Amino acid sequence: MQRREFLQRSGATMLGLWLGMGCGSETAVAPSIPGSGLPWEALARLLQGPLLLPGAPDFSRIVAPWNLRYIDQKPAGVARCQSVADVQACLAWAQSNGVPLVARSGGHSYAGFSLTPGLMIDVSPMNQIGTVGPDGLARVGGGARNANVYAALRAPSVSLTHGRCKQVGVGGLVLGGGIGFNMRLHGLTCDGLVETEMVTADGRVLTCNAQQNSDLFWACRGAGGGNFGIHTSFTFQTFPVTQLTIYQLKWRTRLRQVLGSLNQVLATVPREMGCKVSLVASPDGSLEVQLLGQLLGTPTQLDSLLAPVYAVAAPDSSQVEVRAYWDAQEFLSEEGDPGYSHERSHFVFGQLSETALDTVVDFMLRWPGTSVSADWKFFLMGGAVADIASDATAYVHRQASMVSSVELEWSAQDSPKTIATNQAWLTEFHTAMRSLTSGTSYQNFIDADEPDFLRAYYGDNLERLVSVKAQIDPNNVFHYAQSIPVRL
Ligand SMILES: Cc1cc2nc3c(=O)[nH]c(=O)nc-3n(C[C@H](O)[C@H](O)[C@H](O)COP(=O)(O)OP(=O)(O)OC[C@H]3O[C@@H](n4cnc5c(N)ncnc54)[C@H](O)[C@@H]3O)c2cc1C
Repeated sequence: MQRREFLQRSGATMLGLWLGMGCGSETAVAPSIPGSGLPWEALARLLQGPLLLPGAPDFSRIVAPWNLRYIDQKPAGVARCQSVADVQACLAWAQSNGVPLVARSGGHSYAGFSLTPGLMIDVSPMNQIGTVGPDGLARVGGGARNANVYAALRAPSVSLTHGRCKQVGVGGLVLGGGIGFNMRLHGLTCDGLVETEMVTADGRVLTCNAQQNSDLFWACRGAGGGNFGIHTSFTFQTFPVTQLTIYQLKWRTRLRQVLGSLNQVLATVPREMGCKVSLVASPDGSLEVQLLGQLLGTPTQLDSLLAPVYAVAAPDSSQVEVRAYWDAQEFLSEEGDPGYSHERSHFVFGQLSETALDTVVDFMLRWPGTSVSADWKFFLMGGAVADIASDATAYVHRQASMVSSVELEWSAQDSPKTIATNQAWLTEFHTAMRSLTSGTSYQNFIDADEPDFLRAYYGDNLERLVSVKAQIDPNNVFHYAQSIPVRL
């Protein structure tokens, strides 16, 4: 390839400006770039995919995190990896130049943990999904998103436990466990993982499955995001899908009673039912309970399961439909557009107490208000998730009945004072719920403010995780504010 063509394809034309090979408006920003002076061109030469530096077209869009709280944190460069060799080249270059690095897939880390002042190793171009054969195995590229899964698994009429938000990366999802409406019947996303390929800090390409590198395979199923290496593919055992009953029900009256009834009814529903319950506050001061989910069953069966709740209050709005599986997911899914957000979670063991429900309603009634919304919610867990022992994979929260969380959203319109007041409310709410639920939190709802986060995310599996980390990444190349350390 000619040098000119290479530079254009790699996006390195802009890079040339900073290395003194050209002139233009971008030269004005060069001194403030943390990475100026580094041998970027040497890296660009090694890569099949483009290397982008600040000022390159699309740089800001590509590096932007989902959570706009962290939008001002920019890497010095982003490598848009297209192959395992690209990932290896990035790891070698960053370490030999003392540049911090991070893996990026869907960019949906709640706490912006796929950002770095150094090199962002973006595997999102590696999003191909192989044809599903008669064995039902699907090989998913390390940078695929839920949207790619939706597109690839529709025709063969199979699925895995995926999330609702199309732009979330499968990488982040599966490495932290992965909850979704299929989990009660088929397990977490990580329970369907049969093999993963990853590149370690020292550049080795490892296949991890039940037989090979089994310790690492154990660790990746619940604690893998950004901790041990960069995953370049995931192989899942899919399951066949048929039609489902999907539902979205809303109540605007008798909210406390409806919540109490849902709490009781959902404790005994069959594993064919997957759902999320939310108490949603809007800027206009309104509050409503929502039930969203799917049932592998009929609308009549749904009615009969929910009859005790209907007896408390008829829903103010009700949408119940029977759809083919992937059409049903279009109803249940959302894009997951970027926004300003802070979400904090606690797992619940057993049913929520009456005091816990009173506390939820009390705090939601006292929401100070932003221009967007706040909600408290829980995803119903149990079923197949709990069939697996808590130490069989790194995902430790097997016996939880729910994962509950408080989510606060705001926009650029909200003043710093409004945001501070709302954050104080969130802290008070989350703290009050700890003694009413548990001290454990979902690692995929990663929370920069969670005290004792390692224990909250990994519980009794933490010591084994630290030992795997010490073996695979002794120099702690993969580290961020809440990563697994090489020693406790
Ligand atoms: C709108 C929205 C909806 C969500 N819905 C769900 C849901 O339904 N179920 C659920 O369980 N969770 C859900 N989550 C949480 C989500 O699973 C986590 O935020 C997840 O970490 C996002 O993964 P990502 O690849 O998009 O993010 P990224 O920010 O790219 O990565 C997250 C972490 O994983 C690491 N990482 C990413 N890719 C790789 C890789 N290939 N190899 C090694 N490390 C990697 C990153 O370094 C970072 O530490 C949701 C989050 C959002 C924002």
